[in-house]
Amino acid sequence: MRFGGFQALTLSDYPGKTAAVVFTQGCNFRCPFCHNGGLLPAVADDRNLVPEAFVLEELRRRRGLLDGLVVTGGEPTLQEALPAFLGKVRALGLLVKLDTNGSRPEMLARLLGTGLVDYVAMDVKAPRGKYDLLAGVRAPLDAVRESIRLIAASGAPHHFRTTLPSALLDAQDIETIRRELPAASPHLVQEFKPEHALDPAVCGAALTA
Ligand code: SF4
Repeated sequence: MRFGGFQALTLSDYPGKTAAVVFTQGCNFRCPFCHNGGLLPAVADDRNLVPEAFVLEELRRRRGLLDGLVVTGGEPTLQEALPAFLGKVRALGLLVKLDTNGSRPEMLARLLGTGLVDYVAMDVKAPRGKYDLLAGVRAPLDAVRESIRLIAASGAPHHFRTTLPSALLDAQDIETIRRELPAASPHLVQEFKPEHALDPAVCGAALTA
């Protein structure tokens, strides 16, 4: 696995659990509000990567203190080695929460089908008509829709999440997103923070700076 960062402890990223966080390197989206610009290139200088062996050793040392691991990014499902890595995390007795942009439903189906994830949080960037703008790329809408379906049908604890740059999305858009999601699935809206955003001008931060 290519990892761009590791955080030894979070009390807020895995609902109700203490967890470590690992950040995968590489993402296929370019959301203008992204705070993890350094994680977006698939290929990064090896000196900036965190070796998988280091991550596993840190988890092994802390497993008495941790309930689980949050795997975020970047986009974790882009890496074919993800199931094997999660198997090693599982062997340490840790729960796994996966954060995803929903662009790889085939990987998601594999992970859910083999019980390698215990909790899924998926970003839903926008209503369909605005997805390209909020994802910063031509968005794979069919894949996103299939991922939503898979997650909701899996029975696994999950939530969907939308970041709200108010220059790009309004209350009507949030309502539209909610209507497009399964009624029983939690949907969280998180405030956009302009600091370190990938493209603050697109997000409107420049207008208020
Ligand atoms: S916010 Fe967007 S660009 Fe940033 S890691 Fe998530 S999906 Fe990728």
